[in-house]
Amino acid sequence: MDVFDLSSQEEFSPMKPLTKRPRKCFNQASDTLNQSSDKQSSGTLTVETSSSCDVKSDKPEVNLTERVDDIKRTSVSTEDANFVTDKTNIQGTNGAEVNSGDNCDRDCRKPVYIYDQELVRRCDAMPKIINRASMVHSLIEAYGLISLMQVVPPRRASDEEMMGFHAKDYIDFLALLSRQTDEEKFDEESDQYGLTYDCPINHHVYAYAALTSGASLRAAECLLEGRSIVAINWCGGWHHAKRDTASGFCYVNDIVLSILKLREKYDRVLYVDLDVHHGDGVEDAFCASSKVMTVSVHKHSPGFFPGSGGLNDGGVGKGRGHTVNIPLQDGMRDKEFVPLVCRVLRKVQEVFRPQAVVCQCGADGLSGDPMDSFNLTHTAYSCCVQFILQWTLPTLILGGGGYHSANTARCWTYLTAVICGRKPPTDIPDHKFFMAYGPDYELPISPGNRRNTNSRENLQRIYNSIIESLNKLTVS
Ligand SMILES: [Zn+2]
Repeated sequence: MDVFDLSSQEEFSPMKPLTKRPRKCFNQASDTLNQSSDKQSSGTLTVETSSSCDVKSDKPEVNLTERVDDIKRTSVSTEDANFVTDKTNIQGTNGAEVNSGDNCDRDCRKPVYIYDQELVRRCDAMPKIINRASMVHSLIEAYGLISLMQVVPPRRASDEEMMGFHAKDYIDFLALLSRQTDEEKFDEESDQYGLTYDCPINHHVYAYAALTSGASLRAAECLLEGRSIVAINWCGGWHHAKRDTASGFCYVNDIVLSILKLREKYDRVLYVDLDVHHGDGVEDAFCASSKVMTVSVHKHSPGFFPGSGGLNDGGVGKGRGHTVNIPLQDGMRDKEFVPLVCRVLRKVQEVFRPQAVVCQCGADGLSGDPMDSFNLTHTAYSCCVQFILQWTLPTLILGGGGYHSANTARCWTYLTAVICGRKPPTDIPDHKFFMAYGPDYELPISPGNRRNTNSRENLQRIYNSIIESLNKLTVS
């Protein structure tokens, strides 16, 4: 069985370049939109009518709900793929409450975008991602995407909310440090809470953690309120934080808190982690739960942080079978990543029937990232996100890793455009950070020459093992 024989169908064609074919344009909302497709290179957005993953919609879309409905109707044909044992088309789903547009104003169909200046300023100051939040927001703004979304300001998570997952003494310690100017006095305790090495402590960390967590909680609340079917917080996605320790640049686990928030309304929540690192903090939090399924695709290699997330780590107790890990090696490319991940997700959707989804879009698997691991482009991320969106479930989109700031901004801007149903022009518009996008000053990210060390035989083995486990799953 050739698992990547895609010759007879088009649904996962990740290597198609962004094209400049004529497209119909959005006819309301933004002055930055323009009827002429040949103006794309001068910063004009066009309505996305055919994505690079070929998740198609053949008419101009006026709002997100219509767009995902179109995608749902079109479906993604996998009938001829050898990768899967059943031959059912991917269907929109099931049971979840989707805002139909009744009883809400026109804006409720736009994606929610969590933003305010303080959120960006606080994220900008974090040592591993200096100015990244500004670059991401500025590029999204420069592409004229802000007017296509509902901009919702974040709020601060309260201590009690953070203690919904974290230990009281850990949150208390972060708060204590926020009131100190001499952090060195607390070195010993800081070590105990993981606040060292890649999680340096300073008196800003508590405010940063409370605000980024509150931002993700606010996004989840917007979904609960039916304000939109998609909410985005690019300043969230800190998947390594544990109950009582910081880990891997992550202080407070906004993802776990958001999933708990969504669980107030939705019985089954799916978490998808596309970051190059294993989503260990989220997995640990829910490994014994049958109500939250976690799917993490990541590099799994000796010495690579955090070291967990092996193929056979599948959850414990009631949660057995509800943890899915896709462990990969260096050099992973779009054309293997997309079919593997999407087909696993398809099976997950079939057996778990989630009612809401949280997707962490950590961009450190991109080509050119200092993590120097995978060889992905924006296309891999957008195909996976579009695949999830076609389920028309309430979906929370989060950031995460991504240490090549310009490429991270490119990727998340591209994703934002896709979520808005738009095709962003290739040329980076002139804006404050324009010079960071040289030498090509273009939005698409090209794969590098890195050798792919993932054999197709091994990827097939991983896939078969995951499907075998999922076939045993009985959803409670
Ligand atoms: Zn990462």
